[in-house]
Amino acid sequence: MKPLDSQNFNRQLEKRVKKVITDYDLIDEGDKVAVALSGGKDSILTLHIFDKFQRESDFDFELMAIAIDEGTRSYREEGIKSARNNAQKLGVDYYEVSLKKELGFTLDQAAKFYQTACVPCGVFRRYLLNRTAHNLGVDKLATGHNLDDEIQSFLMSFARADVRRFGKFGPKQERIHPKMVPRIKPLWLIPEKEVGMWAVLNEVEVHLAECPYAHQSLRSRLKSYLNNLEENRSGTKLKILEFFQKNLRINKKEVKLYECQICGEPSSVSICKACEMREFIKNQLY
Ligand code: SF4
Repeated sequence: MKPLDSQNFNRQLEKRVKKVITDYDLIDEGDKVAVALSGGKDSILTLHIFDKFQRESDFDFELMAIAIDEGTRSYREEGIKSARNNAQKLGVDYYEVSLKKELGFTLDQAAKFYQTACVPCGVFRRYLLNRTAHNLGVDKLATGHNLDDEIQSFLMSFARADVRRFGKFGPKQERIHPKMVPRIKPLWLIPEKEVGMWAVLNEVEVHLAECPYAHQSLRSRLKSYLNNLEENRSGTKLKILEFFQKNLRINKKEVKLYECQICGEPSSVSICKACEMREFIKNQLY
């Protein structure tokens, strides 16, 4: 079998990411774009590819990176190291936010009070990312969501009958509140397998370990199920995505947001989920 030509592989990958950016208007001229950097392969690819687009003036935007340290022992340290090193190597402005410093506890401490750690993790990570990005004047927050992540998220909302979350489907979210930084997903059409290949072919430092809480999540079960399906019937994942694209027309502006009475961050109810959970966790801990 012929060995993979990394230059050709990179070119094809960049072409497809560029197409998503232009087809869906992910970046406007002069935008300040922050990559939500976990140190894993997806966000690291997003950072590298955006850095390349910026250096080669394919798009006109400012680039920075934000990493959230949730405080998962024996796991997050390596991710943070990879995030820091990659940002430094590329010369991208890098901001690190610690859950412990900002909210007073780590994810390991919070996890004890929930059936799965992914519940507090998702809420606090979204909260801190948005707050930091907004404070830095960021126009778009780019996440490393790939094709597999997107399908898993959608099926998770399906399984939970969580129709409101369907509004998060797609490569771009509109600004629905002045303090809510729109998210963009440039890897939307890139399968996870290809992201892994990119990291190996280009010998990029990425954090490959799986989160110690991942086994608790519905996402991880759906992931195995979808990978099995794809193995037996190649193209299934793309077909599922296509089905969602064709059949769901959701008015994303329908969700009305207010400001949380405690922290002032955007929220669909008077007290945001992060404040509600923070109070609960602090009461349990102290
Ligand atoms: Fe957070 Fe769950 Fe993902 Fe671990 S698996 S990083 S706890 S969402």
